[in-house]
Amino acid sequence: MPADAARLNRIPVKNPRSGEIDYHVTPPSRERISEKCQSLRAAQVDWASAPLADRMGIMLKWADAVEAHKDAIVKAESIDTGRWRISSESPDAVIWGIRGWCDRAEDIVNRALQVGASSTMPSVKLAQQLVPYSLVGVISPWNFPMMLSTIDAIPALIAGSAVIIKPSEVTPRFIEPLQESIATVPELEKVLTYVAGGGQTGQDMIDNVDIICFTGSVPTGRKVAQACANNFIPAFLELGGKDPVIVTKSADLERATDAVLRGAVHATGQICYSIERVYVDSQVHDEFVEKLIKKTAEISLNDSDIHQGHVGPLIFDKQAGIIDKQLDDAVAKGAKIRSGGKSQEINGGRYIQPTIVTNVNHAMTLMRDETFGPVMPVMRFSSVDEAVDLANDTEFGLSAAVIAGDAQEAMDIGKRINAGGVSLMDTTLTGSILRDAEKTSFNLSGLGGSRMGGASILRFYRKKALMLNPDMPIKLKDLHEI
Ligand code: NAD
Repeated sequence: MPADAARLNRIPVKNPRSGEIDYHVTPPSRERISEKCQSLRAAQVDWASAPLADRMGIMLKWADAVEAHKDAIVKAESIDTGRWRISSESPDAVIWGIRGWCDRAEDIVNRALQVGASSTMPSVKLAQQLVPYSLVGVISPWNFPMMLSTIDAIPALIAGSAVIIKPSEVTPRFIEPLQESIATVPELEKVLTYVAGGGQTGQDMIDNVDIICFTGSVPTGRKVAQACANNFIPAFLELGGKDPVIVTKSADLERATDAVLRGAVHATGQICYSIERVYVDSQVHDEFVEKLIKKTAEISLNDSDIHQGHVGPLIFDKQAGIIDKQLDDAVAKGAKIRSGGKSQEINGGRYIQPTIVTNVNHAMTLMRDETFGPVMPVMRFSSVDEAVDLANDTEFGLSAAVIAGDAQEAMDIGKRINAGGVSLMDTTLTGSILRDAEKTSFNLSGLGGSRMGGASILRFYRKKALMLNPDMPIKLKDLHEI
């Protein structure tokens, strides 16, 4: 791309603590993406034909390289997110991801290769071949920039695919140091690359890959699904949520308030499976709210020191506008703000105190649309049936939680909620299933198979059935029409 065109094309990146634009990315041209994809496809042939153990050996070298580049990655990511502790753990999440999948991969793949005898034609011998898609495209969001850019890429690489990743243009600073870690493992560099850019780059990528793993919002997910349908390639969509928690009258309210506060406020509520709707039995509602207000008062912002405090800035300005609008709409319709309130500017960054809202109902956008901020709208219910109906009255279905008097009561209620993952006696336990159980979303929260459990690797294979007839073939003339 000529220098002037590149300058015009540059995407500005804002520092969420200062509000300053202090970084830019220049997206590659459509032609450049196509060249990169061709080169990845060419290298994938050897990558896929190498034994699984060899691929895993290379992946483990990358885990070591990420470890060696940890300081630079953490520094870059923490500027984009405005938070330190979570960013300081993000390389570990990637390293554990690589090592954890490498521990499980052989078992998962070997089990998928086992097929029984044919039940329809007993003389036919069956074998299963797993053929990886050549090139996987990953498009990821800004809330956990590095971790979410690798969550699908690691199992795809282990399966034998090459991968091209386009993280969010809102938080792209980690790409440079992470790409440096990849460059220290030359065998991996041939089959894994990052590109920086926005929506257009995402669309250009979709035109050059065999399968897409997208994590992001519902509106963009819809566009991605449509583009994938046009290209006749599969799309795995991990989208937004409006996750409910049900607190029954028999629940321990200390436990419930701890779990709700953490589930709603951790990472400034910028987690897809954050708690965004709190349903509490009328009999304990007031006591629950008082306790929640008390605990919320102990939570502090990290505005003066990135190493102190519990709540970082809102990473994406646009999100602050959405949260404020939802709070305005709720108050106009009769809601009461019991702690916190709308976002405020501090030293150029946008922050919001953990916010508790009562007197809410489902006519309010606060109870219907994704908030993606540390807001806890609390609504009463008078029977468990009503609570389940309220929890299921949503166009989403990502995850949910139930806190009851005991595990069995929570399990019975949890089974009635339409969501891909339900935490019992706690909230936001989704990370616990990563390699061990599968989940698929309900409604608008996602499409495609599970990114968790063994399916996470197996979805990157086309499954080929090899069917051998050791006997003489049946002759056509012996087939009588009836
Ligand atoms: P977004 O949909 O705005 O952007 C996501 C990605 O899509 C970015 O990389 C963006 O550049 C890219 N993109 C934008 N337009 C595109 C287009 N037309 N074609 C292809 N790619 C395009 O989402 P966001 O604001 O970055 O992230 C927040 C959303 O992500 C929330 O809704 C949140 O719930 C969701 N999320 C879901 C999960 C999950 O696992 N279900 C995890 C994290 C975040």
